[in-house]
Amino acid sequence: MRIVMMGPPGAGKGTQASRVARERGLLQISTGEILRDAVKAQTGVGVAAKEKMARGELLDDATMIEIVRERVMEATAEGFVLDGFPRTVAQARALDEMMAERTLGSLIIVDVVVPEQELIRRLAGRRICSNCGATFDPFGSSDRCTKCGGELVQRADDEQLVVAERLKVHERQVRPVLEFYRERQTFRVVNGAQAPERVASELDAMIDDAAAVGAAVSKQVEAGGSGSEGRTQP
Ligand code: AMP
Repeated sequence: MRIVMMGPPGAGKGTQASRVARERGLLQISTGEILRDAVKAQTGVGVAAKEKMARGELLDDATMIEIVRERVMEATAEGFVLDGFPRTVAQARALDEMMAERTLGSLIIVDVVVPEQELIRRLAGRRICSNCGATFDPFGSSDRCTKCGGELVQRADDEQLVVAERLKVHERQVRPVLEFYRERQTFRVVNGAQAPERVASELDAMIDDAAAVGAAVSKQVEAGGSGSEGRTQP
């Protein structure tokens, strides 16, 4: 199963991606987390990424594609859940090429949709653990990480002005990516403004349904058909 979780910052796609990965034994590839780790470890990528991330700007496609390629190539047959990638059409095309290269069948794409006011409210309250990086929902009761006891802090890019910039960048950059995917038979939209358990159950049903559709398309393609009038590719 190869899943792409789309959605603006604060939509809960990271939380859902971790859950789906854990429950289905998939590799989670979260580009934001990979970059935050790199910043912390002060690797070459991390040093280059730090300021752009703090300003809410996107990193260059070549760097991001390389980071994801490495992980997609090492993912097991169970598959992966991508979260935070692709953010541009160039990244989406590169992902299609990786899928074709490894003959991995159809991507399942889920867009988590939440109204902007709710996103701003959530992001202003979101905290991460300064030690292990775990993300915590807004307005929780503890100021300590429930996983490792580390101190909870605001993410540098969750400050209000940066949030506005990130939502703007997201809207501008990701809209074409959604258009790139929208016509595929394995594209789904989930209402992320609902209670997390409700989002989870709808999401799970959508993933199972899209996986069945994807498998049928792959079979058709193998049998020499067009794979649903050529709408779902690769
Ligand atoms: P996220 O945790 O997904 O919101 O990502 C945090 C930051 O990392 C973003 O605001 C970007 O600066 C950078 N980033 C993460 N993923 C990508 C990507 N696919 N392309 C470009 N920049 C990215």
